[in-house]
Amino acid sequence: MQLANGHLLQQHSFINNNWFSSSKKFAVINPASETVLANVSDAGKTEVLLAIEAADLAFRKWGTKTAKERSMLLKKWYDLIIQNTRDLAVLLTSEQGKPYNESRAEIAYGASFIEWFAEECKRSYGETIPSPAGNKRLLTIKQPVGVVAAITPWNFPIAMVTRKIAPALAAGCTVILKPAEDTPLCALALAVLAKEAGLPEGVFNVIATTKAQQVGEILTTHPAIKKVSFTGSTQVGKLLMQQSSSTLKKLSLELGGNAPCIVFDDADLDVAIKGTINSKYRNAGQTCVCANRIFVQRNIYNVFIERYTKEVNKLKVGDGMEDGISIGPLINEDAINKVKYLLDDAISKGADVVVGGTQHKAGRLFFEPTIVTGCTINMQLNKEEIFGPVSAVYVFDTEEEVVELANNTQYGLAAYFFSQNINRVWHVAEHLQYGMIGVNEGIISHTEAPFGGQKESGFGKEGSRYGIEEYLHTKYICIGNI
Ligand code: NAP
Repeated sequence: MQLANGHLLQQHSFINNNWFSSSKKFAVINPASETVLANVSDAGKTEVLLAIEAADLAFRKWGTKTAKERSMLLKKWYDLIIQNTRDLAVLLTSEQGKPYNESRAEIAYGASFIEWFAEECKRSYGETIPSPAGNKRLLTIKQPVGVVAAITPWNFPIAMVTRKIAPALAAGCTVILKPAEDTPLCALALAVLAKEAGLPEGVFNVIATTKAQQVGEILTTHPAIKKVSFTGSTQVGKLLMQQSSSTLKKLSLELGGNAPCIVFDDADLDVAIKGTINSKYRNAGQTCVCANRIFVQRNIYNVFIERYTKEVNKLKVGDGMEDGISIGPLINEDAINKVKYLLDDAISKGADVVVGGTQHKAGRLFFEPTIVTGCTINMQLNKEEIFGPVSAVYVFDTEEEVVELANNTQYGLAAYFFSQNINRVWHVAEHLQYGMIGVNEGIISHTEAPFGGQKESGFGKEGSRYGIEEYLHTKYICIGNI
């Protein structure tokens, strides 16, 4: 891995603007080559307590800075991230595996949250409220909630971090981030640039660790932490919610998904095929908003499969640093095993593999872009996130039937459908029980729009004008005897 700016590769936790090494290390692996990229200090209880103390102390000053002062520092951080896009994208592809161009897009997307919230914090207005009594005046002000613990997954090691940190810091909170064990290097590089931008000591801290459970328990129970923002699996989200109840912390939970993607017979098939591929195969199928269940109306089923197969066959698998690659490796062996298990289960229950179906010759962690047809609701891939480059295709007859099938899951993150019928567009969008709906579009995440789920996909919004509210209290003030 060749970086122009070598000091972006850091291998220790970042606490109070200092790097903390420890004798115990863990290896960060490039999933494409399975070589060791770095040996990172494995932080534990001591480091987490130090970070909490630093963030708590820093909050007293950071929380009382003007929005404009915070905004100016955040904009410097944004500029530095953009200037270092190439190096950050190389780091991202190296530790996570996605194609280099997808990494560059993630850096732009990730940085845009910092730019956006650097502006939004200047508009965190309270209100004056018409008073019911002549001698009283009622108003609200917005104040930062305090020290925030952020826990993030490996699939977007930059964007999942900035989507939390940017609104938190903009609101006036200080942060302790625990990135995923598989991808700590991007988070540590962000810390290098935050320090360079002039973020004061203790405002942003990063704990790199393999001890997720121990660190998570401290972060969710320590009284100094006022808010936990988590992106990851529903299972871990539920545990963190339980733990956070001991001190009733404010929570945002961005959890798993099981996105339906419906192709109606009145869809523009070119648009539907492109949109489904974009949703399904980005990041090798490892996104929470991936099309997990593809429902195709019976009278266009054969033609859809034929044309979809042709396009999927064009996807090129390989090391994300090579030119023209659209599918990189999966993150680790567990991910490969999960895809295999879900496919075996589907095949044993009658599904047919039309394309792919096995590991790819590029290496142990690569999987072929796959299409399985004849899927049914008794298969495990109907219930679980596939998190791999596998299209599971179902057939349906009526709109009513497919809406029911689509909603038949405990998840409620993203859903997609393709139709040219305006009445259907409204009707189906309103009846799908999901936090985000893509209509004739497979890529729907934008900084300006609210990202978040319903049901067991969690709660809270990230990005958009709502994102900063997650890090603010609304305080009511009543001035009497006027
Ligand atoms: P995960 O296993 O839940 O891990 C997510 C984060 O939680 C990692 O940093 C992990 O640390 C940490 N963690 C694990 N166990 C913990 C514990 N007991 N206490 C505290 N922290 C703990 O999920 P993942 O496999 O990394 O990510 C994939 C999941 O994230 C999928 O379900 C996907 O849908 C979801 N996701 C959701 C969104 C969204 O916005 N809704 C976005 C992206 C991903 P380690 O890495 O050290 O285990």
